Amino acid sequence: MTLDVAWAMRWMRCTAEAVAEAKTGLTELDRVIGDGDHGENLDRGFRAVTAKLDGLESPPAQVGDVLKLVATTLMSSVGGASGPLYGTAFLRAAKVTGLPELDAHGTVALLEAALEGITARGKAVVGEKTMVDAWQPAVDAAESVASGGGTAHDALVAAADAAAAGAAATVPLLATKGRASYLGERSQGHQDPGATSTALILAAAVRASEE
Ligand code: ADP
Ligand code: MG
Ligand code: MG
Repeated sequence: MTLDVAWAMRWMRCTAEAVAEAKTGLTELDRVIGDGDHGENLDRGFRAVTAKLDGLESPPAQVGDVLKLVATTLMSSVGGASGPLYGTAFLRAAKVTGLPELDAHGTVALLEAALEGITARGKAVVGEKTMVDAWQPAVDAAESVASGGGTAHDALVAAADAAAAGAAATVPLLATKGRASYLGERSQGHQDPGATSTALILAAAVRASEE
């Protein structure tokens, strides 16, 4: 298993499938602490990504080319807060992955750049009940695996597991960024939709690497 262009394309198809399946659940989470559109927003976005990939005459040369296509498609089709955030994440990730395939450190660089894009755009830090609460532990976990000599796949698995734990850990948090922050203390006791979709996207990256 290699994290190459074919993997990046499978990652996006796996994500589209996972998002379609989780659409109602994501929207339900967003209905409680937001405006009830997160599932629809992402489903629309990743369907558009799949359509773009289907329309390519030949596969892109580098992982970064796939991620750039994802970024521009999400930016123009998702809307809301998450469209520009995920769009910027993939755009930044695209810039550090101009290679035919990724090793463990390349995987960390991808995840790190994505997180930097999100924080540059949304200014959230850990603990504010946003997707950063899934991305930051994912980056940290991948980093520790890579620096310990793990493979790219090991780093990805660690990232996905940490993102899932991070998403679950948003439940008790008080939201201080995004729409959920309008609810104040009433945002507590519910899982953040964006952290949940981040965990889903990273789990899809793992599945894509195992196919
Ligand atoms: P909207 O809130 O505009 O309807 P979505 O429902 O698609 O957009 O996305 C909501 C998610 O976006 C939240 O659950 C949260 O994870 C994420 N989010 C919102 N604001 C920020 C921010 N400033 N930084 C990081 N993530 C954010
Ligand atoms: Mg919403
Ligand atoms: Mg909205």
